[in-house]
Amino acid sequence: MLSGDAQGCGVASCHVAFLGARVSCGMSELSVRVVGVGDAFTARYYNACLLFEAGDQRLLVDAPPALARALRDHSLASRDTVGLDDIDHVLITHLHGDHCGGLEQLLFWRRFVTGRKTTIHAIPEVLAGLWDARLRGGMDTLMHPDGSHTSLTLADYAEVQVLAPGVTRLGPLELEWRRTIHHIPTSALRVRVGERVIGYSADTAFDAGLIAWLAASDLFFHETNFGVHTPLASLLALPEAQRRHMRLIHYPDQLDPVGLAIACAREGERLTP
Ligand SMILES: [Zn+2]
Repeated sequence: MLSGDAQGCGVASCHVAFLGARVSCGMSELSVRVVGVGDAFTARYYNACLLFEAGDQRLLVDAPPALARALRDHSLASRDTVGLDDIDHVLITHLHGDHCGGLEQLLFWRRFVTGRKTTIHAIPEVLAGLWDARLRGGMDTLMHPDGSHTSLTLADYAEVQVLAPGVTRLGPLELEWRRTIHHIPTSALRVRVGERVIGYSADTAFDAGLIAWLAASDLFFHETNFGVHTPLASLLALPEAQRRHMRLIHYPDQLDPVGLAIACAREGERLTP
């Protein structure tokens, strides 16, 4: 049974019981906070969202709608405050609204309230549509009382960093990605700090090759859902050696997260591999 830390880990060092072992969790070590676990239709959770951390470096993976509230509720659960101003880097796995619908909130807050740009990371196919297909309609024009207009582009709101093939370094984080099987271009992710690796499938159909790639991690999150997504039965049929490193995410409201053979990620947790 997963023993993540939904109650603490807000200090310089702590211990988290994980996979049956007590391990140190110093601030320079890799950890991940579970901000949201839900799917696109959830009425019960926040949409799937993870926050990777090592030392002072943070990387938010996906920006779901109601992002500020999701971060606040996570902060209350973990007793470690994080908000929009702490998100200097965000990686967008794909352009479905449950994964990037909170970007407008983050970027508006940064531009008009605190004046600090965030950096958006994504694979080229995702960045190609991010502005024109998702953000532009609500963000490209500022109309003024005198009738004049100001035109803005994505560069006015954020720095943009293309995820190239291979390893991308972000402070102590080393990022690798792999395309998944989904309706639109989507990237899975592995995050490494030293010897520790945490993976995330993002949205995908069942893909044995992707699971093998993720299973090289010490801990990985894998989606499960209906339709084009990965059936839970397919994951339950995997070898125990792969399942024991896995946490379910993007699961439907109808799934009872208690007592499954694969542990469900839970909002408010902070996990250290
Ligand atoms: Zn999707």
